[in-house]
Amino acid sequence: MGFTTNLVHSDREFGVEHGNLLKPIHPGVTYGYEDAESLARVFQGKEKGYTYGRQVNPTVEALEKKVTGMEDGLASIAFGTGMAAIGTLLFSLLRRGDHLIASQYLFGNSASLFESFGVHGIDVSFVDATNALNVAREVRPETKIVFVETIANPRTQIADLEGIGGVCRESGLLYVVDNTLTSPYLFQPKQVGAGLVVNSLTKYIGGHGNALGGSITEMGQFNWSEYANIYDQYRSGDAAMWGINQIKKKGLRDFGASLSADAAHRLSTGCDTLALRLDRACKNASALASFFNEHASINAVYYPGLPGHPQFERARTHFLHPGAILSFELIDGLDCFEVLNRLQTVVKATHLGDIRTLALPVAHSIFFELGPERRAAMGIKDNLIRVSVGIEDPADLLQDFEQALSRD
Ligand SMILES: *Cc1c(COP(=O)(O)O)cnc(C)c1O
Repeated sequence: MGFTTNLVHSDREFGVEHGNLLKPIHPGVTYGYEDAESLARVFQGKEKGYTYGRQVNPTVEALEKKVTGMEDGLASIAFGTGMAAIGTLLFSLLRRGDHLIASQYLFGNSASLFESFGVHGIDVSFVDATNALNVAREVRPETKIVFVETIANPRTQIADLEGIGGVCRESGLLYVVDNTLTSPYLFQPKQVGAGLVVNSLTKYIGGHGNALGGSITEMGQFNWSEYANIYDQYRSGDAAMWGINQIKKKGLRDFGASLSADAAHRLSTGCDTLALRLDRACKNASALASFFNEHASINAVYYPGLPGHPQFERARTHFLHPGAILSFELIDGLDCFEVLNRLQTVVKATHLGDIRTLALPVAHSIFFELGPERRAAMGIKDNLIRVSVGIEDPADLLQDFEQALSRD
């Protein structure tokens, strides 16, 4: 069955509760048992069942199964936000003295989080991940994890996903791919050897800007029996599950960044239309990128679907569509605030992956905290505008940008 058929019928895998086709929202945090022995067996892991809402909830579990299905993995854990997923992953799997290699074109909060782990004794190297050689050069005996994103925000660099997968395989490193900007509909990190896949469910998967969430999916491709940081109590049973079990026990249970049933329900109904939304948003993004590319008010356009993009071929090889994020630089003399303020349909807002088209002045908002030197090093100019393209009718988006960019 295809991507969407699987997705929209997956709630029924659990059995239909009260004949309701949607997985109900279970707000309860605790679960009662007929006898104390059953409770004990569930707590000891000898019998399947629910213990406490911080670790398990039927509504959240149904969403986890959907994510697992979309990523073609073995199991997933949902978290309260995408950052909670990433933070919990590092917290559960790294120890003092370990080394982590990450892309230098990382989502701002992930970069900030990794720097904080640096303060707590984890060494982090940020490298230009568009070329796997830069990753290979940084590998040391203490290296445990390589962390990359698929398409970088806002300049749309694409990591050398396949090459880095090869480096990780040869060196026995855990390969973590943050698939947020592509989502499992555009790209399956399994194909490039990812061990764990992270998604911010807040973005394309939820899609409607009405719930926060994050996930980690075990892909069944990493040899956890060679991973030194698995605690003895989790070194039993199927070795493919050791990592995700430790994340669930040490990370989700002890750290507690759980997803609520209510948010899980909204993310779950949102994700049913992922393919339809992304087909439309990517088509809109392509049309806008071509339009910006020809426009006299624009100096440079960054979109992986344009033939001039440095990783155009890579996007074509790996992704179903080249994504729905793009950014552009205005010509000198045009003020990005004035252009943005003239937009009427497009909303001036942060966030991405929404059904609505959103635009923002990058250097003055999401990258402001970095300061001018780091922005310059990352190629972020003061007049760079990022657009997260939504599902509006294409003519309306083109018309809105046309009037905003025309100089009077
Ligand atoms: C937004 C985002 C995150 C964090 O997700 P939240 O749900 O906002 O916490 C992580 N990675 C990428 C690539 C993102 O775009």
